[in-house]
Amino acid sequence: MLADRLNYIKSKILAAHAKRLKNANSPAAKLIAVSKNVDADIIEQAILSGQTEFAENKVQEALNKWPKLKETYPHIKLHLIGALQTNKAKLAVDLFDTIQTVDRIKLAEILANEAEKQNKQLNYYAQVNIGQEPQKAGVDPQELTSFITNCRQNIGLPITGLMCIPPAEMNPAPYFYLTAKLAKSHNCTNLSMGMSGDFAEAIKFGATEIRIGTAIFGTR
Ligand SMILES: *Cc1c(COP(=O)(O)O)cnc(C)c1O
Repeated sequence: MLADRLNYIKSKILAAHAKRLKNANSPAAKLIAVSKNVDADIIEQAILSGQTEFAENKVQEALNKWPKLKETYPHIKLHLIGALQTNKAKLAVDLFDTIQTVDRIKLAEILANEAEKQNKQLNYYAQVNIGQEPQKAGVDPQELTSFITNCRQNIGLPITGLMCIPPAEMNPAPYFYLTAKLAKSHNCTNLSMGMSGDFAEAIKFGATEIRIGTAIFGTR
């Protein structure tokens, strides 16, 4: 059952957290349920089981499900974890609470502009292309300092977190380590890393939030 799977993952989060001697006093990583390809009635089951934070990777799909769910359950927080096109920025600012995929200056400018127009305060994370993969979105680690400085100082977009997706089929540990180091050196308090297959490892390296789809909702 969905509630059992949620509880199982929460117990795994606590177990991984307990192994982190260095930061034993910090709160355990937050569980974000990735509800892409999941129907609204199943999402509602997760909400009724106590899950409060969700993520989608497509604006259009989120628009089909979330306005109604958010109206019914206004305490729910929604994260965008997929690529955002500038022509959807307005819709994204309206619907989401956190945008984890800020990765270009043009997008940062449009988001800042939209948030001001809509008088909305969102959380913004920079997505880091931590494996420097040409096919993958995200800021190159070499350019992260200038990107974040530009966002914060010139554009007025307060980047408070980093998000990464390590290269597939590789040991994620070195990528988690590097992203955590970058977060620390850039004063990013939110560190979004770890998915169904590797979240315990991500927590070991300091993830403050993990994004779990399959382990909650099954394979889609
Ligand atoms: C789908 C997705 C996840 C969740 O992955 P699972 O392996 O299903 O847990 C996490 N992050 C991003 C960016 C995703 O697109």
